[in-house]
Amino acid sequence: MGLKELEYVKDAFESNWIAPVGPHIDTFEKELSKISFDYNVAALSSGTASIHLALILLGVQQNDDILCSTFTFSATVNPIKYLNANPIFIDSEKDTWNMCPDLLELAIKKGISRNKKPKAIIVVHLYGMPAKINKIISIANTYNIPVIEDAAEALGSKYLDKPLGTFGEFGVYSFNGNKIITTSGGGALISSDKIMIDKSKYLATQARDDKPYYEHSNIGYNYRLSNICAAIGLGQLAMLNQRIEQKRRINSFYKSRLSSISEISFLSEEKNSFSNFWLTTILLDHATINREKLRLHLDKNNIESRPLWKPMHLQPIFKDCKSYLNGVSEDLFERGLCIPSGTNMKKEELDRVSQTIKESM
Ligand SMILES: *Cc1c(COP(=O)(O)O)cnc(C)c1O
Repeated sequence: MGLKELEYVKDAFESNWIAPVGPHIDTFEKELSKISFDYNVAALSSGTASIHLALILLGVQQNDDILCSTFTFSATVNPIKYLNANPIFIDSEKDTWNMCPDLLELAIKKGISRNKKPKAIIVVHLYGMPAKINKIISIANTYNIPVIEDAAEALGSKYLDKPLGTFGEFGVYSFNGNKIITTSGGGALISSDKIMIDKSKYLATQARDDKPYYEHSNIGYNYRLSNICAAIGLGQLAMLNQRIEQKRRINSFYKSRLSSISEISFLSEEKNSFSNFWLTTILLDHATINREKLRLHLDKNNIESRPLWKPMHLQPIFKDCKSYLNGVSEDLFERGLCIPSGTNMKKEELDRVSQTIKESM
């Protein structure tokens, strides 16, 4: 937490707005809009809820096919299943580790040739790194398929100076406790389409019709952000730029200390891309044995690290889903490690992590 959060929360208490409605939510949405290309914003209870509502608003129904990055966290995919639609997983390319545009196009063509055009695309910007979003949007436009950008890990990241989350029909942010800024738990759905965002707010508040009594013509959800959480978010938003600077400094620090080691490589920004470097990740030149050896060595030294996301097509729960694969995400999972990237880390701690990694090579 920074310095302002408690002030805003106190404010919320004193004004007695302890509800999923209130002035802090409105202000939070306005502030978030300012850094999101003036897009319309709905503050919601989680990133997962935001993806769920985006799919509903795109008219996704049972048995529809949804093309989705395989290299991600399960929260990207679960809402597809909430709607009894079919996730079809698309593997990564090597430059950004995100959705491969070539495989995406192949999957679209295959779908169309089987008379089943995919209903939507969910592209993820993992670890804050922009996907090849211009290519993906241009393919999606060619076939007229809407795109949801899962930018849960990529708040503040940009492509060609434009914030991630503003390229597709919908953008999704998360303010879960582990993200670059947090409301303890929360998320946001953004879009250039005001009608859609208004509808998302209606669905997020139990789909209550505009009547003096309680009348419902739709199934609704309890997905709104609480005013208290929004108050925390206001304080956090004020620190976002500082956080991004810190994350980028941590990434540069590790790169400067470890780039000379031939067994280790790093993920780098492409031309025109700006990453918030939410987590710093490394790739080892040998597979699992090597990665696990390093992880255990770090663990023995009281340093937590984690393998990269396990691809969705390898998850037991999604084993029956279709996928378009090229081996990239499986390779990343076997060789990759997230290393400590907390913005509260001191230089001595970053030094110690680097030193401990070096020792184990
Ligand atoms: C965290 C995360 C989500 C889900 O966000 P919640 O707010 O935790 O529901 C979705 N996708 C990705 C890639 C995430 O990292």
